[in-house]
Formats: sequence, C-alpha cells, structure tokens
Amino acid sequence: MPAREIVLATRNAHKLREFAGLLPGWEIVPLPDTVELPPETGETFEANAMDKARAAAEAIGAPAIADDSGISARALDGAPGVYSARYAGEGASDAENLAKLIEQVGRHADRHVEYVCAIAYAEPGGVSERVFLGRCGGELTDETRGEGGFGYDPAVIPDDYDDDRTMAELTQDQKDAISHRGRAARELLEWLRGRG
Ligand code: IMP
Repeated sequence: MPAREIVLATRNAHKLREFAGLLPGWEIVPLPDTVELPPETGETFEANAMDKARAAAEAIGAPAIADDSGISARALDGAPGVYSARYAGEGASDAENLAKLIEQVGRHADRHVEYVCAIAYAEPGGVSERVFLGRCGGELTDETRGEGGFGYDPAVIPDDYDDDRTMAELTQDQKDAISHRGRAARELLEWLRGRG
C-alpha cells in the first residue's frame, strides 16, 4: 500500500528525520517555505503544538501535524519547559541552551529532568483535532557525551536503560523506543490507524 502523506509543521531538520522513522506507513512532507508558523506564545506544549498544526493545515488545505517539545528540570521548578528552544536567549544554539541548563542545575543536588513532547494533529476548518503527549525522564550529566540525537541529548541519561549512556549515545531506534517524541508518535499512529 502506498504511504499516505502528512505535512509536518516544523523547520527543524532533526525532528523531520525522527518523525520519518516514527510514523511508518506515512510519508512526512516538510512544510513549504512560504508558510509562516505562528510564534510559540502558548503556556503549554499542547497549545503551541496545536497553534502550529492549525496554522499549517489552514495554509496548505490538508491535514498537518506539529510537535512542541522541551525539557524540564525538577530543581528549576520545571524550567526551561516551553522556553527550551530559547533558554539562553532568542536565537541561541543547542549548545548554548544546554550549557546554560548544566550551569543552572549544577548548583542543585536534584538532577532529574523530563523531556515532554506534544504532537498535535489538525485538519483545515477544525474538522478534526487531537493532541498526544509523551514524556521521558532522566538525569542530567555535567559532561556532554555522544554524537546522536540533538538539542539537550548529550547531557541526558534516560531512566529507561540500565547504563549511563546519554540520549546522544543511543542508536536512533533505542532513542525512539523510549523518547518523549516516540511515545507521543505511537499514540498518534494508533489513533490514525483506528480512523482507517
Ligand atoms: P521546539 O522546536 O520549540 O519544540 O523546541 C524544543 C526545544 O527542546 C529545542 O531546544 C530542542 O533542542 C529541545 N528538544 C526537543 N526535543 C528534543 C530531543 O528529543 N532531544 C533533545 N532536545 C530536544
């Protein structure tokens, strides 16, 4: 059966690659450059993801998905949370954001962090809309390790494996099996399959 298409409302090449593996049977189409995404002004991952999915669905006239994700440190009362992409300032690089998180958590004994991912599905005109949430807990290291993944991955040791590899030291399949995005994507996939 040919793969069905769905547009992913993101400008993040890493997310595009991860989604392609996470939604078998679906061809993930990048958002056309001409479509502008709304700024992330929501207070929750769910709200930001839905804003992006709706904007994309309306602009292209077809169903779209969008994810909003980030990391929360328990010692920092949940920061950076929805501000993860600009924790070290507007336009900050992944490395700068990660360095700030390590520095801020460094003063605390509690090093627990949690990734969260909200994936929103939207059809034009609001005909059908859903949000799926996935979480992945871990501990923050001081020293970054690994070349895989992206963002905060080089300093996060996930709770789900019994060793001290960071998310960036896992294979893509190992990351997908336990990641916040993998968990949310499997919920989405199940729901899409249920609709036929
Ligand atoms: P978004 O594009 O607004 O969802 O930004 C998410 C922020 O969280 C960015 O700083 C990402 O680097 C980070 N992030 C999201 N997912 C992951 C992940 O799977 N691994 C590491 N960092 C992530």
